[in-house]
Amino acid sequence: MLFIRKTLAVSLILAVLIVLGVLGALLLGRLMPETRLQQLIMSVSAVVFSLALILAVFSFYVNHGFGYQGDIVRRVKTDEKLVAITFDDGPTQEYTPKILDVLKAYDVQASFFLVGSHVKKYPEIAKRVHSEGHDIGNHTYTHINVPTSPAAAMSSQLLTTNIEIMKITGESPIYARPPRGMYDARFRRLAELMGMQVVLWSLSSQDWRESVTPARMHSQILKRVQPGDIILLHDGGNLLKAEGASRQRTVDVLPGLIEGLREKGYRIAPLSRLLRYPHVDHIDDLEEQKPY
Ligand SMILES: [Zn+2]
Repeated sequence: MLFIRKTLAVSLILAVLIVLGVLGALLLGRLMPETRLQQLIMSVSAVVFSLALILAVFSFYVNHGFGYQGDIVRRVKTDEKLVAITFDDGPTQEYTPKILDVLKAYDVQASFFLVGSHVKKYPEIAKRVHSEGHDIGNHTYTHINVPTSPAAAMSSQLLTTNIEIMKITGESPIYARPPRGMYDARFRRLAELMGMQVVLWSLSSQDWRESVTPARMHSQILKRVQPGDIILLHDGGNLLKAEGASRQRTVDVLPGLIEGLREKGYRIAPLSRLLRYPHVDHIDDLEEQKPY
């Protein structure tokens, strides 16, 4: 009940803010400007302001949600210095093998949210991800935009991806991550129906931004990292398309990032281990397993 009331209250306040913003800007547009050009500028500003506000609200929902969303994992609550590294949008022919090489060299198990059509295209690379002990999750078949997809398309995207992943691993994945982190109630229900937990992230490397250098990614992640964080990186993808961007910066940052995390006392675990953590009574149970 508290969640519903909180969600309603936040939505209501934001709706009032948007209406006030638009009305205020329109009123100013009527009263103050003397020329048609000034009126036009005011009206355009009002529209831009409203759009910005709507985007801000949407972005807040995507990144934080309104209130408690128990079915969505962004990070794990723990005092132990344990984090997960996740890679989205692969597999790709060029970058996934390079990333796997680095992970192997450091004996790190990570988690990969694979795009179904890429699994079909590069089954050998997907097989390598699985055989080297990394977790595999569902990132839709063609990297769709979830909120604008019809329900039937969304469910077939998730199902066909699960089928491609099952051909590789023999198991249906238990994690799903919506492209760009944009989910809605339908996605959450479908994921649950298919036995998948929705896993987002708590710490983005920002590696999809062309302007962010490996050095900056490294310093930002190490400055912000907290126990239980789920770190987001990419081994494929593109800003607007499903693939094609260079992920060399991600490959470049990875060794130093692993070293830096370990220097700060962090261990790196795949999601299957990090998410199990809250249910483990003694950390010693984890210590006995393979080093992270
Ligand atoms: Zn993605």
